[in-house]
Amino acid sequence: MKSIAIDGPSGAGKSTIAKILSKKLGFIYLDTGALYRSISYKLLNMNIDLNDDILLKNILKDTKIEIKFIDDNQKIYIDDIDVSDNIRRPEISMAASKFSAIDSVRKYLFKKQIDISKKNNIIMDGRDIGTIILPNADLKIFLTANLDDRVNRRYKELKKNGMDINLEDVKRDMEKRDNHDSTRKISPLKIAQDAIIIDTTGYSLEKTLDEVGLIIKGRF
Ligand code: C5P
Repeated sequence: MKSIAIDGPSGAGKSTIAKILSKKLGFIYLDTGALYRSISYKLLNMNIDLNDDILLKNILKDTKIEIKFIDDNQKIYIDDIDVSDNIRRPEISMAASKFSAIDSVRKYLFKKQIDISKKNNIIMDGRDIGTIILPNADLKIFLTANLDDRVNRRYKELKKNGMDINLEDVKRDMEKRDNHDSTRKISPLKIAQDAIIIDTTGYSLEKTLDEVGLIIKGRF
């Protein structure tokens, strides 16, 4: 099976690029952030003590998480409930950053990600894809941009989806989340040794796609 790993901080445009690329190559696209968001959505609603690892493991063991690919869109279900829209809320972004630092949560989702990657040609985006999940990926890209560009992109995206937010809050949350994701002990966001770094600061989507196109040319 062929695989492409795309990692990078939030708002770098990973999912937009991964979606377009997956269509072009006929690969499955797996948004791993959505997995962390979904688990976090469930745990947040349960209001449990996160230090109780036995309870947490039991909850995870009994959690059904399903990904369905419908008309090019990834839909995600937790215990048979479609949470695809709810997990995009800003408070779930913050919760995902907190819960994704927990070892039991990462172990649970590690298995899910590996199972999917074994059965499909795949593009996965996230934080630890090139370093932990797909260390032997055929191509690793680390997509980044300066904070202001990433904040502006995320702000526009959230507004487009009808969220009531302001730019300052998006910036504060993004800085906090990136700092947390890059400094956590387990599977922090970092550049894989063999990743190609693309800095999209000031780039249009077309320019980013051109650059990615040059990298993948003749490889797949
Ligand atoms: O990519 P997205 O912003 O949807 O991810 C939400 C959160 O999930 C991230 O801030 C990060 O804490 C966590 N995550 C992770 N590892 C991944 C993907 C996401 O820790 N592979």
